[in-house]
Amino acid sequence: MSSAPASSALADSPFSALGLSAPLIRAIQEHGYSQPTPIQKEAIPAVLQGRDLLAAAQTGTGKTAGFTLPLLQRISEIDFGRQNGKAKIRVLILTPTRELASQVEESVRVYGKYVDVKSLVIFGGVNINPQKDKLKRRVDILVATPGRLLDHVGQKTIDLSGVETLVLDEADRMLDMGFIRDIRRILPLLPKTRQNLLFSATFSDEIKELATGILHDPVNIEVVRRNTPAELVTQVVHPVDREKKRALLEKLIRDGKWTQVLVFMRTKHGSNRLAEQLEASGISAMAIHGNKSQPARERALSEFKAGKLRVLVATDIAARGIDIDALPHVVNYELPMTAEDYVHRIGRTGRAGSTGEAVSLVCVDELKLLAGIEKLMKRKLESVVIPGFEPDPNAKPEPLRKTPPPRGARAPRNSGGAKPEGGAKAGKPKTEGSKKAPAGNGGKPSGKPASPKPGNGNSSGNNNGNRAPAAQKDRNGNTAPGAKPAGAPRRRRKPAPRPA
Ligand code: AMP
Repeated sequence: MSSAPASSALADSPFSALGLSAPLIRAIQEHGYSQPTPIQKEAIPAVLQGRDLLAAAQTGTGKTAGFTLPLLQRISEIDFGRQNGKAKIRVLILTPTRELASQVEESVRVYGKYVDVKSLVIFGGVNINPQKDKLKRRVDILVATPGRLLDHVGQKTIDLSGVETLVLDEADRMLDMGFIRDIRRILPLLPKTRQNLLFSATFSDEIKELATGILHDPVNIEVVRRNTPAELVTQVVHPVDREKKRALLEKLIRDGKWTQVLVFMRTKHGSNRLAEQLEASGISAMAIHGNKSQPARERALSEFKAGKLRVLVATDIAARGIDIDALPHVVNYELPMTAEDYVHRIGRTGRAGSTGEAVSLVCVDELKLLAGIEKLMKRKLESVVIPGFEPDPNAKPEPLRKTPPPRGARAPRNSGGAKPEGGAKAGKPKTEGSKKAPAGNGGKPSGKPASPKPGNGNSSGNNNGNRAPAAQKDRNGNTAPGAKPAGAPRRRRKPAPRPA
């Protein structure tokens, strides 16, 4: 592959002072980067020197370029693998979600446009066979979700013996999602001597323990204070009754002429319902969550990014890693069960220097969650009551639905189910991808929902996710798709296959 000419523009670039070579600088200049972000200033020279790294960095800081640029340079300049006549995977990047894996690998390709490096992304929820074929060819940088990587290990279709650098991206999220065991199974498959980079937005004791076990004399980088969101995000709370949230959201979108809004919900079912309701009222919207097939998720994301879709309704796990330049509005339609997820959510806006607004619609049920968020943020959030949406001062809080939902309202699996994304205990989503795909299914979409069994005498023909008559309403007064009237016989639930 051709190198860029070493023009003075490339040599004068502040990226050059960090030690990056002309082909990489040319690619990022074409991509519109003129100045390194703070994390890039610290990470690039350290990674180029082969040092281990422990970086406290949220998405939006430019961390992906902070590790991919120097790694691209190292492997394009030092050709260990091919000197020995065989090409092996040299960099392994583990990410918690498919979306993040895709985005990181896309960055590798964008930044690596003018160097001779081959990359591949693998994740669950799609057929494993094409991945096997691609793994037979040369792959220098592999980006993977842990579950699917282990599927390949189990099928002996991957060789990790040449890995020189391991990157754990969004390590805190990987642990939250229950990937720690997978990571511990992967580590012994890698050469003992290697470079290790660990990126995490937060530092629990578990992360510190993982870091201590993996990193050797790491360079420590902290570009944002712990648990603080991007500073350019304006945050506001609108107190509102739970039944009026949707009308308020529509008003905010219409009055504010918002064109690109990321809306967060706690459950997959709630996301589906809200997206449908917004669509019905003339605001283009789609839902993105772990029960959607990979192509459906990618389509929703690309239409949203391209500005063709006004609202993307997402659960916390699905939204992790969504990287949209200058996303102006994030709405917490429901507050997350854990305060740290609030920080992750609002970090979707105000990225890389642009300003953003994070709006939370808070009803009486969520006041404790709000208090938890304010404690974590160490400040009270500005609260603005919107005229016409004044909350009823006598409203009684109702318990927030955790998993599983009340018996009569339980939805069949193919409706998404009214439970927190990941199906784990509330606030600790465990599995977008932590359950094994059934062996020998050729890696069938693990996110593909299992069909409920029709014909239990009480299904009201709702086995395709349509509403049942007299079904129980959820917290927001919505009817659960496929929900059965209270007292209907319970169905046996099949274990769901693993998405990633
Ligand atoms: P990340 O934190 O890696 O998710 O990156 C957040 C966003 O910042 C992405 O949209 C990048 O394209 C963008 N970005 C990364 N580095 C730079 C830079 N040096 N200048 C401008 N934008 C950047």
